[in-house]
Amino acid sequence: MTDYVYDFAHGGRAMADLLGNKGANLAEMTRLGLPVPSGFTITTEACRVFLSTGRPPPELERQVADHLSALERAAGKRLGQADDPLLLSVRSGARVSMPGMMETVLDIGLNDYSVLGLAKTSERERFAWDSYRRLVQMFGSTVMGVDGSLFEETLTRIEDQHHVPDDSRLDVCDLIRTVESFKDLIGERTGRDFPQAPAEQLRQAVLAVFASWNGERARLYRRRERIPDDLGTAVTVQTMVFGNLGRDSGSGVAFTRDPATGRRGIYGDYLPSAQGEDVVSGVRNAVPLQELGALDPASFGQLQEYMDRLESHYRDLCDIEFTIERGRLWMLQTRVGKRTAQAAFTIASDMADEGLITNRQALTRVNGEQLTHLMFPRFAVTGGADVIARGVPASPGAAVGAVVFDSAEAVRRADAGEKVVLVRNETTAEDLSGMIAAQAVLTSHGGKTSHAAVVARGMGKVCVCGAEDMIVDARARCLVADGLTVGEGSVVSVDGTEGVVRLGAVPLVESDVMHYFDSGVPADGTVRDSVRHVHRLMLEADAARHLEVRANADTPQDAARARRFGAEGIGLCRTEHMFLGDRRRFVEAMILAEGDAERSAALAALLPLQRADFTGILEAMDGLPVTIRLLDPPLHEFLPDRTDLAVRVARREASGAPPDARDTALLAAVTRMHEENPMLGLRGVRLGLVVPGLFAMQVRAIAEAVAERERAGGTPRAEIMVPLVDAVEELRLVRDEVERVVEAVSTETGVEVSCPIGTMIELPRAALTAGSIAQEADFFSFGTNDLTQTTWGFSRDDVEAAFFSAYLEQGVFQASPFETIDREGVGRLVRIAVAEGRAAHPGLELGVCGEHGGDPASVGFFHEAGLDYVSCSPFRVPVARLEAGRAAV
Ligand code: PEP
Ligand code: MG
Repeated sequence: MTDYVYDFAHGGRAMADLLGNKGANLAEMTRLGLPVPSGFTITTEACRVFLSTGRPPPELERQVADHLSALERAAGKRLGQADDPLLLSVRSGARVSMPGMMETVLDIGLNDYSVLGLAKTSERERFAWDSYRRLVQMFGSTVMGVDGSLFEETLTRIEDQHHVPDDSRLDVCDLIRTVESFKDLIGERTGRDFPQAPAEQLRQAVLAVFASWNGERARLYRRRERIPDDLGTAVTVQTMVFGNLGRDSGSGVAFTRDPATGRRGIYGDYLPSAQGEDVVSGVRNAVPLQELGALDPASFGQLQEYMDRLESHYRDLCDIEFTIERGRLWMLQTRVGKRTAQAAFTIASDMADEGLITNRQALTRVNGEQLTHLMFPRFAVTGGADVIARGVPASPGAAVGAVVFDSAEAVRRADAGEKVVLVRNETTAEDLSGMIAAQAVLTSHGGKTSHAAVVARGMGKVCVCGAEDMIVDARARCLVADGLTVGEGSVVSVDGTEGVVRLGAVPLVESDVMHYFDSGVPADGTVRDSVRHVHRLMLEADAARHLEVRANADTPQDAARARRFGAEGIGLCRTEHMFLGDRRRFVEAMILAEGDAERSAALAALLPLQRADFTGILEAMDGLPVTIRLLDPPLHEFLPDRTDLAVRVARREASGAPPDARDTALLAAVTRMHEENPMLGLRGVRLGLVVPGLFAMQVRAIAEAVAERERAGGTPRAEIMVPLVDAVEELRLVRDEVERVVEAVSTETGVEVSCPIGTMIELPRAALTAGSIAQEADFFSFGTNDLTQTTWGFSRDDVEAAFFSAYLEQGVFQASPFETIDREGVGRLVRIAVAEGRAAHPGLELGVCGEHGGDPASVGFFHEAGLDYVSCSPFRVPVARLEAGRAAV
């Protein structure tokens, strides 16, 4: 029989797939002997059964009942008993944490009888009735589906009747009346009663948590975070403890290090006399955790000890929720905490220094996406008089945008291409779509552990929260700060590193990390303190990786920059970029040439220009390989637009002027060369085989540039790459021509020029016949852009705008296959070509130069596939180095 329920005492951290992150970590803390209120976890497997069949597994009810009885026996009290009742919390907990995205129901077990028992034992009648009021409200909306605002309206009406500003001023009689009104509301709206039987409350709450896996918020969050839809959530059922029982009680959230900066030392928020939800929602401003030291030194000391234990046990930043109930500390949750990019590098590097983790482990704690984030620009100014609001620097970075006051407006403006800053008093899970749409989130309430801060950090969004002097009036659509009224649409600059907001768009400058990469490490190895951690982990990545990293670059400037960024060569030099600008006229002349002589003259005019291009690049990359690709795009791309030309010719004709011979010839050529599907037409190697002399000119320019660099004392290492090969015969023909030209240049110059000759593998047929092609190739470079286009049959220029958002929405894929390699399809072709290419030609060099070469999520695949290098744009070189290092550990 399948076990669908596990007591906290049975289970542990390694079981997160089954118990969810929360359940697994509660079990782990229980095993470590920490004071965890007892409970049990219903597995993700049970949820998956529910999601696929619409019903929980038949055994579940019995298993829950058994665990509940055990819990009651151990506690010595029963759920719903009329005297000191046991109360439970029911919470979601997937394998991957999804903060606030699913449902929670607290105080399960309260009913018309047990509320009296709770009132008696807690000696706080008001507390008992308020808890019951909260249960009926939470249960009514999340489990029974009554619109939450109806409860709010009822509550406001009762507050108004009693002339009190908020519910904390309602007395016991008012609360009893509120509970009755809420129950009536549920009856009216659903035709059912609020269930009095605690076991029934529990059963329904569990099903509601299961169902919330497919709630709108949760689905949106998963799509953004690329969390698979089929994981399901576990449900933890835990004995309630109360932080709202008076001054010797309270709740808090704590981190073992600062999750924003990574600095050592415990960090967090504490809210005396409150329940955990109040801290996380940011509704009330908490005090810094350190103040607990003065309020309750014993609990504070204990908490510190537990935090030390957890951090050394998990060997990572731990994020903890705790409650103190009448001076007794309870640990309610722990998990490896989310952190900013900056904190990730700092913590990984510090923990390696402290010997908590190895250097290689430290590498696995950071990723390319975080590094990209650190390379973004920062504001040019710090401090200053133009600051209009200050708050908690909850998630660092620089963002400029128009202020908006609700999620709908944020999404509307962002869809129209505007950058926005979402401003709220505090955020709730309802604000998720707005947070995704915004550049930054700004709140007037809440600390570093508030919902806004936690979610923004997880997303890498800039966030300043708890800007208490700022008044947010969402209804009037304005904020008031520093005496200024800032209306919706006004532009502000939010500095999440400093925690300040300025009016207007503040200019940006290069980040320290970008400066570090762009200036290269000084000979003595010393770097600025702000980039010490990045430097350390980059050294580690370089030492660990097997993949080389090259750059896609076609100018000496780009080549030089790529080299400073750590590129070990050029993996793709696209020569088509050298045929633009002033040179178009030579290309035109080549295309329009009537006869060999005219064409040769046009090519001869291009030759010295190409030679100079290659000489410059080979010089910038001296000693390192430079893979130069022969011309790839269809030639008509270098001619004027057909419609423009036709209009020009027709206008001239209509005006009675004599025809312009050049325009007429150009129009005839453009018309002749027009293709319905140019991407599948006359391009790549096909051009080389049908346009006489074109590839020969390019090869000559390369060979002469090599000879020139050799004579100048350099070490040029040019490689010649043929694009869009489908069949080995194409490559054989081009290879013969290339060899002939290189030999001729060697004879003419007296310099022994030798260039490896290889091909791109960017068509499915090439991948599938890689064994034959490898016999004519010294290297393969996977052109995963075209390979994705032709494998999926997706036009790379059209489909992303046309329907990818619908495909992402409907879960056809979780990321664009043009961004992140499709391992199953395109990846399989790559693996086939690697295996068959290497089998036919041992020592064949293999690389990738499509966009995927610099995509953090794809580099690991190329490592696994056994490539020798990845090649990407210069700015992505550091990211690829880091990811290649991570892939190797
Ligand atoms: C490719 O197709 O992956 C490639 C690198 O070539 P291009 O993008 O120039 O077609
Ligand atoms: Mg291509």
